[in-house]
Amino acid sequence: MPPSLERFGWTPERETEFEQHRADGLVPARVAVEHRSQYVLYTGEGELRAELAGRLRHEGEMPAVGDWVALRPPSTIAAILPRRTVFSRKEPWKSAEEQILAVNADAVFVTSALTERDFKPRRLERYLATAWESGAEPVIVLTKRDLCEWVDSAVAEVQAIAFGVPVHAVSAVTREGVEELRSYLEPNRTVALLGSSGVGKSTLVNRLVGEELLATREIRDDGRGRHTTTHRELVLLPGGGLVLDTPGLRELQLWDVGEGLDTAFEDVAAIASRCRFSDCEHRTEPGCAVREALASGRLSRERFESFGKLQRELDRLERRLDQRAKAEFGRQIRSEARTRRRTQRAPRRRAK
Ligand code: GDP
Ligand code: ZN
Repeated sequence: MPPSLERFGWTPERETEFEQHRADGLVPARVAVEHRSQYVLYTGEGELRAELAGRLRHEGEMPAVGDWVALRPPSTIAAILPRRTVFSRKEPWKSAEEQILAVNADAVFVTSALTERDFKPRRLERYLATAWESGAEPVIVLTKRDLCEWVDSAVAEVQAIAFGVPVHAVSAVTREGVEELRSYLEPNRTVALLGSSGVGKSTLVNRLVGEELLATREIRDDGRGRHTTTHRELVLLPGGGLVLDTPGLRELQLWDVGEGLDTAFEDVAAIASRCRFSDCEHRTEPGCAVREALASGRLSRERFESFGKLQRELDRLERRLDQRAKAEFGRQIRSEARTRRRTQRAPRRRAK
């Protein structure tokens, strides 16, 4: 197994899966940047630019940052290898299309700044649900602690909604707490950064890298000595870990948080499971455990409402998917009817 690939997270298990590709003359590589169907890849021999094979393009199979791919030298991506974890979102207004934003992260830093304006535990809950759903292990990172006088109460508040997920308060300015994050960035492990713009993700990565690396760096263009600069979305840290920071992850919307929702709202789900009716809407139904818990104060109204809001958003998305399924079904019926008409008409004509 090439040791240089191991740095990017390649494992013996992956190598075994790759046997057939090796036999076909392909080599493994990991996507560092994706930009309009142009890719920068890490390979055992360094970085290079690559394009998608026509077949993948036609099938609409697009690699995402973090993907392992099979490269046909010098520069064609021939296959995408199985994904271990996936971050995806729905296209905001357009449709219910799923968009894959980042893949193969082992852990995810769910970030929020400790400022009056940015500190929104409700938003953290949403991010947390998304993180669970991706399959990566979540870690909550509260940034800009140097600007905050209520760090302890903020951490306590977040711990209450985090259910055992570790919570760290850090400052990229004083560097307080930053070193503790390195334990998640062991060699060959990939950590994705999830959080709104401006919370300090890039600054944090720069601290972890130890230099201002994220913005620009030279990459090998095509082996002819030309150089281009670009910024990397999958960054290799000097200590060996990898950080995945894509613009898409900054503006993540919900996609399939079905199970993730229940994990992030374990407390609400546990209470709701004791309602007399399994389809209880917690409004006027008799034997509603949720209303009981709200009345006794065991469940805060705020948390219940944020669960409801998320639930409604999911329902909306599901209805949209449902409509799409119906439209597709309708198209299918119409096209089958057309085929039937054609095959039925033919014999009649012959009969004339
Ligand atoms: P990103 O959009 O999440 O990548 O955020 P940036 O890393 O670009 O940071 C946004 C702004 O917050 C910049 O002006 C940073 O200098 C500032 N910032 C980042 N981290 C900290 C911090 O720990 N403390 C303070 N006071 N400012 C910070
Ligand atoms: Zn109920």
